[in-house]
Order: sequence, then structure tokens, then C-alpha cells
Amino acid sequence: MGDSPVRDPLDEPLLLTPGPLTTSRSVKEAMLRDWGARDGEFMAMNARVRSRLVELAGGAGTHEAILIQGSGTFANEGVIGTFVPRDGKLLILINGAYGRRIRQIAQMVGRAHSVLEWPEDTAVDPAAVAAALAADPEITHVSMVYCETTSGVLNPLAEVAAVVAAAGRRLLIDAMSAFGALPCDAQGIRYDALVSSFNKCLEGVPGVAFAICRREALEEAARHRSVHSHVLDLIDQWRYMERTGQWRFTAPTHVIAAFDRALSEHAAEGNVEGRGARYRRNCQVLVEGMRALGFGTLLADVVQAPIIVTFHTPSDPRWDFEAFYDSLRRRGYVIYPGKLTKADTFRIGCIGRISETDIRGALEAIRTTLTEMGVRLTLPAAPTHSA
Ligand SMILES: *Cc1c(COP(=O)(O)O)cnc(C)c1O
Repeated sequence: MGDSPVRDPLDEPLLLTPGPLTTSRSVKEAMLRDWGARDGEFMAMNARVRSRLVELAGGAGTHEAILIQGSGTFANEGVIGTFVPRDGKLLILINGAYGRRIRQIAQMVGRAHSVLEWPEDTAVDPAAVAAALAADPEITHVSMVYCETTSGVLNPLAEVAAVVAAAGRRLLIDAMSAFGALPCDAQGIRYDALVSSFNKCLEGVPGVAFAICRREALEEAARHRSVHSHVLDLIDQWRYMERTGQWRFTAPTHVIAAFDRALSEHAAEGNVEGRGARYRRNCQVLVEGMRALGFGTLLADVVQAPIIVTFHTPSDPRWDFEAFYDSLRRRGYVIYPGKLTKADTFRIGCIGRISETDIRGALEAIRTTLTEMGVRLTLPAAPTHSA
């Protein structure tokens, strides 16, 4: 039967989204008990998680991991407030919604800033960053999103980091949807702070984010004490946990226990290389399968990160995103609407505890759904090769 769903629809759905995303059963099971905040086992988990994050970042001996309650944006705001001095100036590189969110944070916390913007289907250009830094000596820090999850575009982190370092400025990285699956080795890429969260490529549950910080930059930030917020004060959070082994406020015990488990699964999969390889395979199967169905991708393959893929919606008048979404949801797959300001699109994620087989199942559900909706896709014109 062509339309039999590959997954049992009574199972929990697979989240093919940029977050929250699918976690393993064992990660969920790690939460089936309560810990006291001063429980020795729980305190050991905190220490283990923090040192493991530093290790994954390639920052052993030079960097610190600071955990912060909340979603990823909480850590981004903590970093802007903590690291950019009140008399500093932030250059924000924007090619999607997450870059725009950094600008909003800079406005709210009252830091001088300027922006460089690119279209949402285009990667950040390191040469333009170099020119902007040369033209404005007041800029002290640069903020860049590594993988812009809005579209899935991969920004050239190593190249931008080199330009920022050569100009003697500081780099703050939003690596939310990349850390743990894409390379960002602290020994090769100079930054003051890099932000990510538990429920992206590291496949923990949502609720805690973190910043990997260069210790010297942290100590400098501790001297200028610019932060605007008590709960987002990364220096206080760092020092308190160093001193006591505990959290400043009520500890997110279950989230930490699940993350401890998620990190051992990440190591078992072969760390950044192993996790990245699975996501690349997911992405490849997804893009090939969708193109075979007649869908076009927003991005050219060279700038596509293996994290989330944006597809153009079909032009057939029978296309209806809500109906498409509901049909896939009934079959056990949750996708995501587009977040672009211009093109009409939807997105399918490659990250989380999902395999190539899951992606093939989703493709089958998409094919069936299109047939049911009576939507016909006109294949994108084949590239013409002039002799
Ligand atoms: C997920 C994500 C964030 C954080 O968003 P929250 O909604 O706060 O979790 C920030 N930047 C990027 C690039 C992301 O993918």
C-alpha cells in the first residue's frame, strides 16, 4: 500500500525542525529521577558536562564553559551584556532572523552597534567585514551567526575569525545550530565567546544554553563589569559554579542529567565528526529526495549547511502549507514553516536523533501527501550549459 505510513502514527512524532528537536529515548529516560542540588552525583554531572563542553570546543586549558538557564537566546544576551563593554561597539553581521535578533539584543542592552547585511540566501562576506573594521576604529567586537538557521546558510566562520583577529577586534559567535556537528576548534578559531544550547546538535533536552569563553576575555569582562542583568551575568554564574560546584538559582537537574547522557551518546557516535557525518547524510538524502519530487532548494549547495534545508513552496494553486503540514504530522513527521522575509518557503531539519531511514520515511510521506492534495510540481529547469 503506497500510502501506508512508514512510522506508527501513534508513536511520538519525529521533529524535523530547528528545535525543539528529537532526542533519544535514553536521553529522556535519564530524567526519571529527582536530584538534590547538593547531591554529589549531580554536582559531578555539572562538572563533567562543563569540562566535556570545553573539550569538545578544543579549549582545554584556555577556555571555560558557562551554563545558563533558558533557551539559546538567553546565552546570546548574556554574552553581549557581559563581553561588550558599555563604551564598546558591536558590529553585527546579519543574513537572517538570528542576526537580526542579536541587533535587537544590542539595542535593548544599550550597546553601540552597526550592522552589515546580506540577503538571506547569501553567506557573509569576510572582505566586507575587513573593510568595515578598517573604516570604523570604534568597533571593538563582531557578532556572527555560524549557521543561520533561518535559511540553513553556512557562514564562513574561519575566514571571518581570521579577519577579525587580524584587525585586533573580538569575535562573538552564535554557533547555536552548529556546535557539536560542524567544526569550530578554539585553537584554530579565535573568539571571546561562542554560544550554543543543549537541544540543538548535542541532542539534549531544551532548557539550558551555554557559552564557551576564552578565560582571558572572561577576566577582562570581570574587570569592566558591564552586564545589565543579574540572571544573565555570566561572570557571576561562572564564579559561583567554580566556587561551589552548584547553580546560583534552582538547578535544572533533569535537564543536566539528560545532557550528561546526551554527551556520552555524542562521544559514542564519534564526536563532532561522527555527528556531523550523520547530519550530512540526512541532508544529502533529503535534498536529493526532494529534488527528485520536484522541489527546489533556496540555497546553492555550496552554502548549504547540513542542519536545516529551506524549500520553495510549489506554485500549483492546490498547494496549501497547512494541509501539507497536517498530513505529515498525521504520518508522524513535524516540519517547519519558512522564516524568510522574502521568499515563500518551508523548512525541514536534518538534526536531532534522526537517521537517513527517518528522512526516507518523511520523503515517502511527502510524496503520498502531494498525490492526495493533487499538487503537481514542475521540475526546476535544468541548468543550461552554453558551449
Ligand atoms: C535556535 C537558535 C537560536 C536560539 O533560539 P532560542 O529560540 O532562544 O532557542 C539562536 N541562534 C540560532 C542560529 C539558532 O539556530
